[in-house]
Amino acid sequence: MNIAPYPKRVTAILNKWHTGAVTAQDCMACSSSCCSHGGFAILENVLAIFELYERGELKREDYRFPEGLCFRDFVRTYFDVFWCPTGRWPWRKQIAVFHMKSLSSDGQLISIPPVGESYYETRNALFGENPWLNKGCVFLSKRVEEWPSDDKDATRRCILHHPASATHLTQKPIDCVFFVCTEPREPKVPTGDVSADWHRALAVSYPNSVERFLALVEETPARQEDGAATAPTNP
Ligand code: SF4
Ligand code: SF4
Repeated sequence: MNIAPYPKRVTAILNKWHTGAVTAQDCMACSSSCCSHGGFAILENVLAIFELYERGELKREDYRFPEGLCFRDFVRTYFDVFWCPTGRWPWRKQIAVFHMKSLSSDGQLISIPPVGESYYETRNALFGENPWLNKGCVFLSKRVEEWPSDDKDATRRCILHHPASATHLTQKPIDCVFFVCTEPREPKVPTGDVSADWHRALAVSYPNSVERFLALVEETPARQEDGAATAPTNP
Protein backbone atom coordinates (compact mmCIF):
# COMPACT_ATOMS: atom_id res chain seq x y z
CA MET A 1 0.00 0.00 0.00
CA ASN A 2 1.07 3.63 -0.50
CA ILE A 3 1.15 5.19 2.91
CA ALA A 4 0.47 8.90 3.37
CA PRO A 5 1.10 11.16 6.36
CA TYR A 6 -1.94 11.94 8.49
CA PRO A 7 -3.58 15.24 7.53
CA LYS A 8 -2.51 18.25 9.63
CA ARG A 9 -5.71 18.36 11.66
CA VAL A 10 -5.36 14.70 12.66
CA THR A 11 -1.65 15.09 13.42
CA ALA A 12 -2.34 18.11 15.64
CA ILE A 13 -4.85 16.15 17.74
CA LEU A 14 -2.57 13.12 17.99
CA ASN A 15 0.42 15.23 19.05
CA LYS A 16 -1.59 17.05 21.70
CA TRP A 17 -3.23 13.89 23.03
CA HIS A 18 0.06 11.97 23.21
CA THR A 19 1.97 14.70 25.03
CA GLY A 20 3.19 13.43 28.39
CA ALA A 21 1.85 9.92 27.76
CA VAL A 22 3.68 6.57 27.64
CA THR A 23 6.24 5.99 24.91
CA ALA A 24 6.31 3.39 22.16
CA GLN A 25 8.96 1.59 24.23
CA ASP A 26 6.55 1.41 27.20
CA CYS A 27 3.96 -0.21 24.94
CA MET A 28 6.55 -2.68 23.57
CA ALA A 29 7.23 -3.79 27.15
CA CYS A 30 3.51 -4.14 27.97
CA SER A 31 1.21 -7.14 27.54
CA SER A 32 -1.22 -5.13 25.35
CA SER A 33 -4.06 -5.55 27.78
CA CYS A 34 -5.67 -2.42 26.29
CA CYS A 35 -6.49 -4.60 23.27
CA SER A 36 -9.22 -6.40 25.19
CA HIS A 37 -11.16 -3.13 24.58
CA GLY A 38 -9.83 -1.89 21.24
CA GLY A 39 -10.52 1.30 19.31
CA PHE A 40 -11.86 1.50 15.77
CA ALA A 41 -10.59 1.57 12.23
CA ILE A 42 -11.66 3.90 9.45
CA LEU A 43 -12.36 2.77 5.90
CA GLU A 44 -8.79 3.51 4.75
CA ASN A 45 -7.43 1.23 7.50
CA VAL A 46 -9.89 -1.53 6.62
CA LEU A 47 -8.92 -1.43 2.96
CA ALA A 48 -5.26 -1.79 3.97
CA ILE A 49 -6.12 -4.66 6.35
CA PHE A 50 -8.00 -6.39 3.55
CA GLU A 51 -4.94 -6.04 1.31
CA LEU A 52 -2.87 -7.81 3.98
CA TYR A 53 -5.52 -10.51 4.24
CA GLU A 54 -5.58 -11.05 0.48
CA ARG A 55 -1.79 -11.43 0.47
CA GLY A 56 -2.09 -14.10 3.19
CA GLU A 57 -0.23 -11.90 5.68
CA LEU A 58 -2.85 -11.83 8.43
CA LYS A 59 -1.60 -14.47 10.84
CA ARG A 60 -1.88 -15.14 14.55
CA GLU A 61 -0.82 -18.18 16.51
CA ASP A 62 -4.16 -19.28 18.00
CA TYR A 63 -6.65 -18.45 15.23
CA ARG A 64 -6.68 -19.02 11.47
CA PHE A 65 -8.11 -16.38 9.15
CA PRO A 66 -10.08 -18.38 6.55
CA GLU A 67 -9.08 -17.79 2.94
CA GLY A 68 -11.24 -16.49 0.11
CA LEU A 69 -13.49 -13.91 1.77
CA CYS A 70 -14.60 -11.04 -0.44
CA PHE A 71 -14.28 -7.50 0.96
CA ARG A 72 -17.88 -7.40 2.12
CA ASP A 73 -17.71 -10.75 3.90
CA PHE A 74 -14.34 -9.89 5.40
CA VAL A 75 -15.75 -6.71 6.91
CA ARG A 76 -18.89 -8.46 8.10
CA THR A 77 -16.83 -11.20 9.71
CA TYR A 78 -14.26 -9.11 11.57
CA PHE A 79 -15.90 -5.73 12.28
CA ASP A 80 -19.00 -4.17 13.79
CA VAL A 81 -19.77 -1.22 11.51
CA PHE A 82 -21.44 2.02 12.62
CA TRP A 83 -22.13 5.45 11.17
CA CYS A 84 -20.84 8.05 13.59
CA PRO A 85 -22.39 11.54 13.29
CA THR A 86 -20.06 14.50 13.88
CA GLY A 87 -20.56 18.28 14.04
CA ARG A 88 -23.79 20.26 14.24
CA TRP A 89 -26.35 21.03 11.61
CA PRO A 90 -25.83 22.31 8.95
CA TRP A 91 -22.20 21.14 9.10
CA ARG A 92 -23.10 17.64 10.19
CA LYS A 93 -20.97 14.88 8.64
CA GLN A 94 -20.87 11.21 9.42
CA ILE A 95 -18.01 8.81 9.30
CA ALA A 96 -18.05 5.04 8.99
CA VAL A 97 -16.27 3.44 11.96
CA PHE A 98 -15.26 -0.21 12.05
CA HIS A 99 -14.92 -1.77 15.50
CA MET A 100 -12.69 -4.84 15.50
CA LYS A 101 -14.40 -7.92 16.94
CA SER A 102 -12.96 -9.79 19.90
CA LEU A 103 -12.31 -13.50 20.12
CA SER A 104 -14.12 -15.44 22.82
CA SER A 105 -12.52 -17.95 25.16
CA ASP A 106 -13.56 -20.73 22.73
CA GLY A 107 -12.26 -18.96 19.63
CA GLN A 108 -15.55 -17.45 18.36
CA LEU A 109 -15.84 -13.90 17.08
CA ILE A 110 -17.94 -11.68 19.34
CA SER A 111 -20.20 -9.08 17.75
CA ILE A 112 -21.52 -6.33 20.00
CA PRO A 113 -25.33 -6.21 19.67
CA PRO A 114 -26.89 -2.95 18.46
CA VAL A 115 -28.68 -2.17 21.70
CA GLY A 116 -28.24 0.46 24.42
CA GLU A 117 -26.99 4.03 24.25
CA SER A 118 -23.73 3.39 22.44
CA TYR A 119 -21.40 0.69 21.19
CA TYR A 120 -18.98 1.34 24.06
CA GLU A 121 -21.60 1.20 26.79
CA THR A 122 -22.97 -2.06 25.46
CA ARG A 123 -19.50 -3.57 25.04
CA ASN A 124 -18.43 -2.52 28.54
CA ALA A 125 -21.60 -3.99 30.02
CA LEU A 126 -21.29 -7.26 28.10
CA PHE A 127 -17.61 -7.81 28.88
CA GLY A 128 -17.86 -6.40 32.41
CA GLU A 129 -20.64 -8.84 33.32
CA ASN A 130 -18.91 -11.75 31.55
CA PRO A 131 -15.18 -11.36 32.18
CA TRP A 132 -14.49 -14.95 31.07
CA LEU A 133 -15.80 -14.21 27.58
CA ASN A 134 -13.47 -11.66 25.98
CA LYS A 135 -9.97 -12.77 24.96
CA GLY A 136 -9.10 -9.61 23.09
CA CYS A 137 -9.10 -8.16 19.63
CA VAL A 138 -8.96 -10.63 16.75
CA PHE A 139 -5.92 -8.72 15.40
CA LEU A 140 -3.76 -9.50 18.43
CA SER A 141 -1.01 -12.07 17.91
CA LYS A 142 -2.51 -14.20 20.70
CA ARG A 143 -5.20 -14.07 23.29
CA VAL A 144 -5.19 -11.59 26.14
CA GLU A 145 -6.96 -11.89 29.45
CA GLU A 146 -9.82 -9.56 30.28
CA TRP A 147 -8.78 -6.23 31.77
CA PRO A 148 -7.50 -5.76 34.48
CA SER A 149 -5.80 -9.20 34.46
CA ASP A 150 -2.22 -9.06 33.28
CA ASP A 151 -0.12 -12.09 32.35
CA LYS A 152 2.82 -9.72 31.62
CA ASP A 153 3.44 -11.44 28.29
CA ALA A 154 5.13 -8.68 26.30
CA THR A 155 5.56 -10.93 23.24
CA ARG A 156 1.88 -10.34 22.50
CA ARG A 157 1.46 -7.66 19.83
CA CYS A 158 -0.89 -6.12 17.32
CA ILE A 159 -0.50 -7.94 14.00
CA LEU A 160 -1.57 -4.73 12.23
CA HIS A 161 1.23 -2.66 13.69
CA HIS A 162 3.30 -0.70 11.17
CA PRO A 163 6.51 1.19 11.98
CA ALA A 164 5.04 4.38 10.46
CA SER A 165 1.59 4.17 12.03
CA ALA A 166 2.26 6.96 14.55
CA THR A 167 2.58 9.47 11.73
CA HIS A 168 1.12 7.84 8.61
CA LEU A 169 -2.14 6.19 7.71
CA THR A 170 -1.49 2.44 7.59
CA GLN A 171 -3.38 -0.76 8.38
CA LYS A 172 -3.14 0.05 12.10
CA PRO A 173 -6.60 1.29 13.14
CA ILE A 174 -6.36 5.03 13.61
CA ASP A 175 -8.29 5.03 16.88
CA CYS A 176 -5.80 2.49 18.27
CA VAL A 177 -3.06 4.96 17.32
CA PHE A 178 -4.98 7.66 19.22
CA PHE A 179 -5.38 5.49 22.33
CA VAL A 180 -2.65 5.98 24.90
CA CYS A 181 -1.90 5.53 28.60
CA THR A 182 -0.65 8.06 31.14
CA GLU A 183 1.39 5.28 32.78
CA PRO A 184 1.70 1.71 31.50
CA ARG A 185 -1.78 0.13 31.78
CA GLU A 186 -3.35 3.39 32.98
CA PRO A 187 -5.52 4.52 30.04
CA LYS A 188 -5.88 8.21 29.29
CA VAL A 189 -9.62 8.69 28.98
CA PRO A 190 -10.81 11.39 26.55
CA THR A 191 -13.56 13.79 27.55
CA GLY A 192 -16.68 14.01 25.41
CA ASP A 193 -15.28 17.17 23.77
CA VAL A 194 -11.96 15.53 22.91
CA SER A 195 -13.79 12.53 21.41
CA ALA A 196 -16.09 14.82 19.44
CA ASP A 197 -13.09 16.76 18.04
CA TRP A 198 -11.35 13.52 17.15
CA HIS A 199 -14.35 12.07 15.30
CA ARG A 200 -14.91 15.39 13.55
CA ALA A 201 -11.29 15.61 12.42
CA LEU A 202 -11.54 12.11 10.96
CA ALA A 203 -14.86 12.82 9.23
CA VAL A 204 -13.48 16.00 7.64
CA SER A 205 -10.06 14.58 6.79
CA TYR A 206 -11.36 11.33 5.31
CA PRO A 207 -14.70 12.49 3.84
CA ASN A 208 -17.63 10.53 2.43
CA SER A 209 -16.58 7.27 4.04
CA VAL A 210 -20.15 6.05 4.43
CA GLU A 211 -20.89 6.58 0.76
CA ARG A 212 -17.56 5.10 -0.28
CA PHE A 213 -18.09 2.06 1.90
CA LEU A 214 -21.62 1.51 0.64
CA ALA A 215 -20.41 1.77 -2.93
CA LEU A 216 -17.87 -0.93 -2.12
CA VAL A 217 -20.34 -3.32 -0.58
CA GLU A 218 -23.44 -2.16 -2.51
CA GLU A 219 -25.47 -2.18 0.65
CA THR A 220 -27.96 -0.03 2.54
CA PRO A 221 -27.19 2.03 5.69
CA ALA A 222 -26.31 0.39 8.98
CA ARG A 223 -26.95 1.43 12.57
CA GLN A 224 -25.70 4.73 14.02
CA GLU A 225 -22.96 5.11 16.60
CA ASP A 226 -24.90 7.32 19.02
CA GLY A 227 -27.80 4.93 19.50
CA ALA A 228 -30.23 7.34 17.83
CA ALA A 229 -30.33 4.58 15.33
CA THR A 230 -32.35 3.98 12.28
CA ALA A 231 -32.29 0.37 11.13
CA PRO A 232 -30.21 -1.74 13.53
CA THR A 233 -28.71 -3.81 10.77
CA ASN A 234 -25.14 -4.75 10.08
CA PRO A 235 -23.96 -4.25 6.54
S1 SF4 B 1 -2.12 -0.82 27.99
FE1 SF4 B 1 -1.23 1.24 27.69
S2 SF4 B 1 0.97 0.90 27.97
FE2 SF4 B 1 0.06 -1.11 27.57
S3 SF4 B 1 0.23 -1.40 25.33
FE3 SF4 B 1 -1.79 -0.50 25.78
S4 SF4 B 1 -1.45 1.71 25.52
FE4 SF4 B 1 0.57 0.80 25.78
S1 SF4 C 1 -6.21 -3.52 16.07
FE1 SF4 C 1 -4.28 -3.89 17.09
S2 SF4 C 1 -4.00 -2.18 18.50
FE2 SF4 C 1 -6.14 -2.17 17.87
S3 SF4 C 1 -7.20 -3.34 19.48
FE3 SF4 C 1 -6.68 -4.76 17.84
S4 SF4 C 1 -4.72 -5.66 18.42
FE4 SF4 C 1 -5.01 -3.80 19.65
